[in-house]
Amino acid sequence: MTMMNMEIPDPFTAFRIEKYNRTKGLRYDFFSGEWDMECAACGEPLSAPNKKTMTKIRLYHTRNECLGGY
Ligand SMILES: [Zn+2]
Repeated sequence: MTMMNMEIPDPFTAFRIEKYNRTKGLRYDFFSGEWDMECAACGEPLSAPNKKTMTKIRLYHTRNECLGGY
């Protein structure tokens, strides 16, 4: 599986984003079986079927869509 133009951030950036977002309300919806949260930078709702995918979606979003507030 490949995602177009997906960039892997450097470990420090990834860790920082991860840490920041983790305090920002990643929730697991037991009914839908999905993880969801709002982007820490722009408030856009994000959802994913599992945490690993959520991390990818979030990093993709913050790096390519809203730029994480940078
Ligand atoms: Zn965003």
